[in-house]
Amino acid sequence: MKNVAVIGAGTMGNGIAHTFAQSGYKVQLVDISQDSLDRGMATITKNLDRMLAKERISQQDKEATLANITTFTNMEEGVEYASLVVEAATENVDLKLKIFKQLDEATGDDCILATNTSSISITQIAAVTKRPEQVIGMHFMNPVPIMKLVEIIRGYNTSDATTNTIMDLSKDLGKIPVAVNDYPGFVANRILMPMINEAIETLYNGVAGVAEIDTVMKLGMAHPMGPLQLADFIGLDVCHSILEVMHNGYKNPKYAPCPLLVNMVRAGKLGVKSGEGFYNYAHSKKAEQVADMFA
Ligand code: NAD
Repeated sequence: MKNVAVIGAGTMGNGIAHTFAQSGYKVQLVDISQDSLDRGMATITKNLDRMLAKERISQQDKEATLANITTFTNMEEGVEYASLVVEAATENVDLKLKIFKQLDEATGDDCILATNTSSISITQIAAVTKRPEQVIGMHFMNPVPIMKLVEIIRGYNTSDATTNTIMDLSKDLGKIPVAVNDYPGFVANRILMPMINEAIETLYNGVAGVAEIDTVMKLGMAHPMGPLQLADFIGLDVCHSILEVMHNGYKNPKYAPCPLLVNMVRAGKLGVKSGEGFYNYAHSKKAEQVADMFA
């Protein structure tokens, strides 16, 4: 398996493409937006430069990684020769169902279809394909080139063969895979998102300000970054979507997104990627500093 297509070049897609390419895989990076592809490639180049400056990779490694990535705006062309597709498009159920139907038609019979979804049912996504045993969750963490964990989610029909292939592949990428079952939010976000939502609720209730909440959690709980900064880093729209999936999936009000989070998403304050969330990134180097914390 040396030919991998990645769907979506946003926060996660460009990191996933970078990681596969750096491990020697040929990567076809697909996005409907040329602008996203350009920004994704610029991010990959910037992150490789950061690794080069820290002497984690050589100039040849950087060049080889970039040479392994080809970009496409046409999905059918991008996935034609792939033996694995990793979908990392926007966190939206209808969109993912549509993409997986298209992937099922456009890829070879042996191709494994993986999704990087943070919370959406793998079983539901697999059900729109004719190969549910070859559909699996491959949930990378942000920033992908740095974070070791990959949460591997088995859908109801995912086969042992598919799971074993993806577990081995994750190890080949230098990651540590952990297999979990398919319930809303899986493990990582089922535990993380209620904490982030509670931090937003704490702000909304006027208990403390942004900096105070983050400082309490950083210094008091030894978290590398506070929950509000982490929410900005993940993307507030992504946090909102994950909470909605858990809220709908478990029918439990404890997962209802805080009204402040809902308002900020409606106002386009999405965090680092939009230039403003709980912090302002437009005129500061905070986004760089956050990325540097991991490099
Ligand atoms: P993002 O908003 O940064 O990027 C999404 C990209 O998908 C955009 O570039 C968009 O143009 C593209 N896209 C939309 N429709 C498409 C289509 N039909 N075909 C191809 N590309 C399309 O989102 P993100 O944060 O990278 O999240 C992507 C996925 O990864 C989501 O499922 C999300 O839940 C998951 N995820 C996110 C994080 C995180 O920290 N942000 C962590 C783990 C998993």
